[in-house]
Amino acid sequence: MVDVAVVGAGPNGLAAAVVMARAGLDVTLYEAADDIGGGSRTTELIEPGFLHDVCSAVHPMALASPFFREFELSRRVDLRIPEVQHGTPLDTGGAAVAYQSLERTVAELGVDGPAYGRLLGPLLARVDGVVEFTSNQLLRLPKDPLTALLFGLATLDQGTPLWGRRFREEAAPALLTGVMSHALGSQPALSSTGAGLLLSVLAHAGGWAVPVGGSMSIARAMADDLTSHGGTIRVGERVDSLDQVRPAKAILLDVAPPTLARLGGSEVPDRYRRALEAFRFGNAACKVDFILSGPVPWRSPELAKAGTVHVGGSRRAMAESENLVDMGKHPAEPYVLVSQPSLVDASRAPEGRQILWTYCHVPKNSTVDMAEAVIARIERYAPGFRDVVVASKTTTAAELSAYNENYVGGDFSAGMLDLRGLVQRPVVSPVPWRTPMPGVYLCSSSTPPGPGVTGMPGYHAAKHALKDIFNARVPGLGLGL
Ligand SMILES: Cc1cc2nc3c(=O)[nH]c(=O)nc-3n(C[C@H](O)[C@H](O)[C@H](O)COP(=O)(O)OP(=O)(O)OC[C@H]3O[C@@H](n4cnc5c(N)ncnc54)[C@H](O)[C@@H]3O)c2cc1C
Repeated sequence: MVDVAVVGAGPNGLAAAVVMARAGLDVTLYEAADDIGGGSRTTELIEPGFLHDVCSAVHPMALASPFFREFELSRRVDLRIPEVQHGTPLDTGGAAVAYQSLERTVAELGVDGPAYGRLLGPLLARVDGVVEFTSNQLLRLPKDPLTALLFGLATLDQGTPLWGRRFREEAAPALLTGVMSHALGSQPALSSTGAGLLLSVLAHAGGWAVPVGGSMSIARAMADDLTSHGGTIRVGERVDSLDQVRPAKAILLDVAPPTLARLGGSEVPDRYRRALEAFRFGNAACKVDFILSGPVPWRSPELAKAGTVHVGGSRRAMAESENLVDMGKHPAEPYVLVSQPSLVDASRAPEGRQILWTYCHVPKNSTVDMAEAVIARIERYAPGFRDVVVASKTTTAAELSAYNENYVGGDFSAGMLDLRGLVQRPVVSPVPWRTPMPGVYLCSSSTPPGPGVTGMPGYHAAKHALKDIFNARVPGLGLGL
């Protein structure tokens, strides 16, 4: 008899399965797709020999997430830290860039460098507390109240229409908004500011890691650990009802809330079902992947060293573009997230070639191909970009939704990221991973702390399942000596 069934082999399903198997339980992991990984798959999307991350590409939490630290991810995967963590090209011709060193960043940011330093410095000094606070659910007493207070004050400082008070020029606010706009939604907003501050601080802590071999290396590291502790992985097996994986004593679901409602059938109490079915999804992404004949010809040389580039102009221009998406429109000049993994990982492309990973935000269920708008946006700050494009492939929001059913309508955050969406994920509860069905847990990024390759929703769900059902302690997850 299988002790534990995990449904969905995204980073959170894998994290949950690793914890349960490490606790000595018999674990089977079911994945609907033909391969593991969920949002951390890497494939030859366009041509053989070129490795593209289909979803996630850059990993600010790889070195910071409490799960990955316990799991010693950095000893299992070659995580490269680019010289420039992220940058934003400016309309003046230069760029605002974040180095791992906060001091260097402050020194090169111009007049507003010190104000940027005063915003992030106190959080960086307490980075472990910031990660602890943001890696759990918000409705609880923080372990380190002073850090939570400082984080809250910084979020208020940058998350309201008064966000420009501390700055005099474009560079520092554009640098910050480039990061804050990772979280889909209108700008300024407290939720995206909180997420952006965490990511900004991590850029100056361990850095934003790019895994050699692509994001799949992270998924493979977890899958290897799972199988070496006796777990079984069954790919190409969609689970359509809980009965399909019974008689497992614990079932952990790396699925979207409406899928949980469907799988549970008549077992799901009415009130909980209504909450799952009414769960709010946000807007979406249109992904555009490229093969390039050489590096992007950025006007600013610092951007040629950046793992991530946020292309969107000034803080105001980025906010306008994000607010249009929030109103259900496709911006003509979108905010574009760009990752340049082959700059630090030669395994991604044959010699002399590069790959480029980009996406922009679009309304949910969009079928619009944004490739031309993305190219034009990059070309503006990298004249000649068009000439280095050898091939490209667009994945529209509707296609993203079909690729991974957790991304309902193309919402890669698996749930709206406003304040309500952070607290009600999927329900307001001290233990939102536990469902009212005995033995059934939700472990996807539709639970706290939300999206990103962190393993944390899976880790939280597994910890509760271990305690509730097996009265077992959380096992060590490291490699040992
Ligand atoms: C375009 C894009 C860019 C992104 N960029 C980044 C980034 O750079 N950095 C970052 O940290 N995060 C990024 N993310 C977000 C990140 O990928 C997700 O937050 C993360 O993958 C969520 O992990 P998960 O395990 O909760 O779900 P997923 O990774 O979505 O995995 C869920 C898995 O469950 C499977 N499944 C669902 N239902 C069933 C069923 N009924 N039966 C069997 N299997 C099922 C699915 O097939 C899927 O494999 C990005 C996402 C997208 C789409």
